[in-house]
Amino acid sequence: MLRTILHVDMDAFFAAVEERETPALRERPVVVGADPKGGRGRGVVATANYEARRYGIGSAMPISEAYRRCPGAAYVRPRGKLYREVSRRIFAILRSCTDLVEPLSIDEAFLDVTASRRLLGDGPAIARSLKERIRESESLTASVGVATSKFVAKLASDLEKPDGLVIVPAGGERETIAPLDVRRLWGAGPRTLARLERLGVATIGDVAALGREALVREFGEALGGRFHELSRGIDARPVCPDRARKSLGKEFTFDRDVADRGQVERTLLRLCEEVGAALRREKLAGHTVTVKLRWEGFETVTRQAAQARPVDTTEHIWPPARDLLRAADQPARRVRLVGVTVSGFGAASGRQLSLFEGGERTPGSRVADAIDTLAERFGKRAVTRAALLPDVRREASHSAGHGRPEAES
Ligand SMILES: [Mg+2]
Repeated sequence: MLRTILHVDMDAFFAAVEERETPALRERPVVVGADPKGGRGRGVVATANYEARRYGIGSAMPISEAYRRCPGAAYVRPRGKLYREVSRRIFAILRSCTDLVEPLSIDEAFLDVTASRRLLGDGPAIARSLKERIRESESLTASVGVATSKFVAKLASDLEKPDGLVIVPAGGERETIAPLDVRRLWGAGPRTLARLERLGVATIGDVAALGREALVREFGEALGGRFHELSRGIDARPVCPDRARKSLGKEFTFDRDVADRGQVERTLLRLCEEVGAALRREKLAGHTVTVKLRWEGFETVTRQAAQARPVDTTEHIWPPARDLLRAADQPARRVRLVGVTVSGFGAASGRQLSLFEGGERTPGSRVADAIDTLAERFGKRAVTRAALLPDVRREASHSAGHGRPEAES
């Protein structure tokens, strides 16, 4: 039986929520992100509304660049808590029409509605009803793609943004995605894209035209075969509600490029604490710790390390993160940004499982839970890890106020 997959993506989500909350922002270019500080600001754009996008402003752009392009825009600091609340209500609407909801981010999800069709109507009918309910209850617009696979649904939702509804009928997949930029092909990183370019490929249709044999010759059986299928709109991957979140990370841009390694490490420690707390809040633990380091001048490196056991506490995130930082570091260069991410929440990864099975929990979790409770009651500063981290304790609270938080990954 052909599946019916929806990809639902809120339009300029953070900016749309801000416009809703503050009517004076409507019809103006709105940039949610770091403080531009008259063009000297650091950090990046989280979301730009459609008016701001006309100036070429987009997510992840340095905020100073956004300011240069449109100094008259409204620059708004992100309000994560508010966006999460709105997101929770939107996901409740999505889950009301199927259990198979796979969140991709705070404002984006796949839905497999195949089994809901008999009760709720066909894919387009379900998509229209979801858009309507989101508009009625939240005064926000979503764009939806309806297709027979995740890949095609995801591409479709983007075709008529904002407030789009694009239905790709079974059999029409290949034709619909053929004109799209090859960069939209899943699994194609910068190096792969360069190789595809050398083969004269510009669009997904060009990939399909290469044929399976040529793709396998160039990229091997697994990747080449996969490109062949995707380029023709074939993607059998299921919608996986359990593997919803693939990573959880935080990063921080310094107000000024920082030479002092102590300051960089203290900031990284604080980020480890925040990531640990967020993981425990979401009842997740992961096998991979990744550190991101951005030098002055914006060059960025990431380094990761696999952990023998899933981690969700500072005690287990910080030591590998610190080691990765030290190994990747080039002491002569100043640091612009540091970040840490935990990923690899496999089915066997600890805490989610153990909570349900009553089994063993990750080491340190109970202590961490107690610290979370204390932190909630008395504020973060009341809680230190003096015994564990004597070298950073003294100045940990200083580093917290600098710069601006950036988007969660
Ligand atoms: Mg979106």
